[in-house]
Amino acid sequence: MSESVISVSELTRRFGATTALDSVSVSLPRGAVYGLVGANGAGKTTLIKHILGLLRAERGSVRVFGLDPVAEPVAVLSRIGYLSEENDLPGWMGVDELIRYTSAFYPKWDDAYAEELRRAFALDPAAKIKDLSRGQKARMGLLIALAHRPELLVLDEPSSGLDPIVRRDILGAVIRTIADEGRTVLFSSHLLQEVEQVADHVTMIHQGAIVLSAPLDDIRESHRIAGRVPSLDEIFVAHVGTPASAADA
Ligand code: ATP
Repeated sequence: MSESVISVSELTRRFGATTALDSVSVSLPRGAVYGLVGANGAGKTTLIKHILGLLRAERGSVRVFGLDPVAEPVAVLSRIGYLSEENDLPGWMGVDELIRYTSAFYPKWDDAYAEELRRAFALDPAAKIKDLSRGQKARMGLLIALAHRPELLVLDEPSSGLDPIVRRDILGAVIRTIADEGRTVLFSSHLLQEVEQVADHVTMIHQGAIVLSAPLDDIRESHRIAGRVPSLDEIFVAHVGTPASAADA
């Protein structure tokens, strides 16, 4: 088996009385698409923040490319492309300005690829970020996350509230291509139908604990009932009791 890009061991995180992560352990080898699924509040963003070094492990350990992301943020983050749920881009910048500004932070920034994505995503270089639609902002965020050709792409709820065309861009064209190039994608979602279309491996999280983590094909096979393969939604409900798209974990 190839080396793990992300290795999390017995990670626990509390916010006051809330246990956001409860002794979570996951090990993700490179070159695959990992779907992190759970309802709102299940702990997905908290886990992602630890992977990005934005939160320090209170208990347990987090390693990304074999490194501690809190101790070595530049070494880790320079190899990660990240699209957050909020996708908070500087509204006062122009599309072209933001592309040039961001490129300065990444030695491996690929100008030609950035331009290719800008055209494919139909982003006007002169437009101000604040004037872009939600879908255009998502495309912009994705461009920024992709154009330095990261070894690991992390997408936190990439398609929440987005129109089907942007979802297709993100899920179809981008995610699969990255994994096919031997790079790694981790994306969180409560939309299990979308995860099912693109993930190689699925990790289900509920109330801060991992309830299932396995290759999608294995999950399907092991849940086969009388020859019928249930949907990922059905499998999730069987383990957790409520659908991932329900309002609360
Ligand atoms: P969502 O999709 O709604 O973002 P999630 O699965 O990403 O959900 P988290 O954001 O990781 O869930 O939250 C897990 C739990 O930790 C929730 O109960 C949340 O309210 C709590 N939590 C997260 N961050 C904080 C914080 N900074 N302060 C207090 N509680 C927090």
